[in-house]
This record gives sequence, structure tokens and C-alpha cells, in this order.
Amino acid sequence: MATFIVMLGPPGVGKGTQAKTLAEKTGLAHVSSGDLFREHIKNQTELGKLAKSYLDRGDLVPDDVTIGMIRERLGRVDCRVGAILDGFPRTTVQAEALETMLKDFDGQVDKVPYITAAESILVERASGRLTCRANGHIYHQKFNPPAKEGICDEDGSQLYQREDDKVETVTNRIRVYIEQTMPLVDHYRRGGRLIEIDGSQSVERVTEELLESLEQTGK
Ligand code: ADP
Ligand code: AMP
Repeated sequence: MATFIVMLGPPGVGKGTQAKTLAEKTGLAHVSSGDLFREHIKNQTELGKLAKSYLDRGDLVPDDVTIGMIRERLGRVDCRVGAILDGFPRTTVQAEALETMLKDFDGQVDKVPYITAAESILVERASGRLTCRANGHIYHQKFNPPAKEGICDEDGSQLYQREDDKVETVTNRIRVYIEQTMPLVDHYRRGGRLIEIDGSQSVERVTEELLESLEQTGK
């Protein structure tokens, strides 16, 4: 049966950073809904045109569009053994849709790392985030700067500040998270799949804790 890990936590806490490392270490695919939307926007697809205004405001893209995009992605061959889901699900409707689609893919949500940190940390992290144009590699002006200013260490592409990483938009994204995504914490806790991780620690320490707790639980 395919293994799916859902990364849960507020915007800016470090889900993407950790998901990339976990994907490398486990061999599972990394599926980031935010990266998929940004790719559609870059390529000016119909989906990208629809999604853009939601991303710019920091609101959630409607469930049906998001679910359709993820279903298509999880159907690709690299997800056959499973995936690290980063940014999906974000609503109860999406979580239910995920359960249904995983049945079709002979998979299940195994573990749900829930990374948290104080709001001041989230704002500081998101507002200093630098993202790579080509592949979405993640840096931070202060906490994880690239070797050469403005250039991605891994693929040499340009780094940019995401439109939705302005402080006002980050604040809205945190509000949206509290209203629409926080209920999933209890949903997964009830299912016994939640692993709580203190995200205020260093990147390396968070990775260690994540790997330890996934190993302990048999993943
Ligand atoms: P998310 O996917 O949860 O929105 P990211 O992984 O993109 O978060 O991280 C947000 C920002 O915080 C990035 O600039 C990243 O480099 C930085 N960051 C991530 N984890 C840590 C950490 N443990 N300590 C300091 N900065 C971090
Ligand atoms: P992220 O890269 O995870 O910070 O997501 C960036 C933005 O993409 C969010 O603020 C939303 O506008 C949109 N988005 C990402 N994932 C979802 C989702 N699961 N449901 C709805 N909108 C999403």
C-alpha cells in the first residue's frame, strides 16, 4: 500500500523546507499544492488564471479546483509508492476528498507531522523567504541565505520574493489557516496519526525530530 504523509502547520512554519528533505530521505514524491498553483500561474494556464487572485490575496483557491489539481498530480507515476503532501489538504472537504482519492490509488494517510510556532516567528520567516524561480527551492534572507545573493545554490536560477509574502498578506494567510485549516488538527489527532513538532527550533533540529518520530512509528 502506498504511503502518504500530510505536512500540517501554519504558513511560514517550515513545511516546504522539511518536505523537501523528507522526500529525499524517504524516496517519496514531494507534492506541494502551492508550488503547483505557482507553476500554473507562471505558465498562464486556465487554472493559473483562476487561481492567481486567490493566491495574491492569501485566500484559499476553491476546493473543487484544488482537489482536481491534486487528483491529477497523485495519479502520476512518481506517486505510486506514495508522497509527502505539503499544503494539501487545507479544508475538511479537501481532507475527505483525499481519503476517497487515496482509496483509488491504494494508499492511505499514514502520518501527519504537525509543525507549529508562534505567530511572530511565522511572519518573520515568511516575510524573509526567498523562492527559486525554476524549482521552488526555499531560502531565507537571514536564516538560510544562498551562497550568492539572489541566486539559487541548486540550479542557478533567480530568487524572488513571493507576492503573498508581504506582511499584510501573511497575516491574512494566518487568519485563513486558523479558520479553515486548524480543524484538521483534531481530525487527524482523532485518527491517531498526528505527530506534534516544535517548529521554532533550527531547520536541522526539526528534521531530526521529524525523522525520529516517523521511524518510531514505523515509517
Ligand atoms: P511553509 O512551507 O510552511 O510555508 P517554508 O518551508 O517555505 O514554510 O519556510 C518559510 C521560511 O522560513 C523560509 O524562508 C525558510 O527558509 C525559513 N525556515 C524554515 N524552517 C526554518 C527554521 N527551522 N528556522 C529558521 N527558518 C526556517
Ligand atoms: P503555500 O505555497 O502552501 O504557502 O500556498 C500558497 C497559496 O496557494 C495559498 O495561500 C493559497 O492561495 C493557495 N493554496 C495552496 N494550497 C491550497 C489548498 N490546499 N487549498 C486552497 N488553496 C491552496
